[in-house]
Amino acid sequence: MLRKTVGIVPASQDDIDVEPAGKLSETTENPGCLLCGSALEVILSGLTDNRLGTPGSYEIRRCLRCGLEQTFPVPTLSELTELYETHYNFGGESETLYTKLRERFLFSFLYRVWTWLDGDVAFHQRRGTGQLLDIGCNEGCGLRFFARNGFRAEGLELNENAAKVARKAGFHVHTCPLEEFAPVAGYDVAVLSNVLEHALQPRQMLMDVHRVLSRGGQVWISCPNSESWLRKAFGRSWINWHVPFHISHFSTGTLRELLNETGFAQVEVGQITPAWWVAQSLIACLFAKHGRKTWQLRNPFLAPLLLIMARFVLFPALWLGNRYGHGDCLLVVATRT
Ligand SMILES: [Zn+2]
Repeated sequence: MLRKTVGIVPASQDDIDVEPAGKLSETTENPGCLLCGSALEVILSGLTDNRLGTPGSYEIRRCLRCGLEQTFPVPTLSELTELYETHYNFGGESETLYTKLRERFLFSFLYRVWTWLDGDVAFHQRRGTGQLLDIGCNEGCGLRFFARNGFRAEGLELNENAAKVARKAGFHVHTCPLEEFAPVAGYDVAVLSNVLEHALQPRQMLMDVHRVLSRGGQVWISCPNSESWLRKAFGRSWINWHVPFHISHFSTGTLRELLNETGFAQVEVGQITPAWWVAQSLIACLFAKHGRKTWQLRNPFLAPLLLIMARFVLFPALWLGNRYGHGDCLLVVATRT
């Protein structure tokens, strides 16, 4: 189902608008809403992978009842596994000039200044104590920050190769699926940094997070905001469609409701618009070609240049977007009841 080849549709103000309201997805091919099972309507079609160039064309469908937006078709678990193993992280890119510069930047004083200015999308600057589980910890970059900031940090990562890298750095990393993970004691914090939108079953994921947390423990979530003004501005080039890897596209309302339903309270939602995300949308808009990796996203000169431009030239627009509920990223902290 991911093999259909469709030419990329250039984004313009004319072709990014939603399709006529009320166009319901066919019952035969409509699995229903991921959260409530209700019917979906197609709101955007012709989306392709503008980061990694995986094949296929996708739609965004919106639930008529709860409003959750979701990618269609939804890849099966085995298809997703293959896609992640073959394509994600730019095929396991390492030791390139880009990755070396990124590593130096992340662990420099400059990064602390930058996150203060730009927003802390991965919770790298939060200090605290207690047992923390970083779900989808990848190679353990976040774990290094969490440990440095006072937490006893562990990871959960399905990719064995990534887990090995994190273990080499001294961290305890579990490699079983979250639904099978049964810790001896509950965690004080569970981190879902740009993870929940990738889940095939987001409700189940939050129920499992609830299960592994202690009472009063917190979940920290960051994910793209489906009500972002950048989505309108960039149309199909918006980097956060990220098909087929992003399955759900949350708004403040849908995420808050899901958290309440799965046993979380005191849901605090903030918004930021990372300049890096703006830069990536710009690069995708300028360079993405269907079926090809957009290597310019890893250009060690162009990417930082656009990032700095986005931060310092567009800052009034970014600030206003965040202020009025249309920032690019949702930052959520919720407490387990
Ligand atoms: Zn629904």
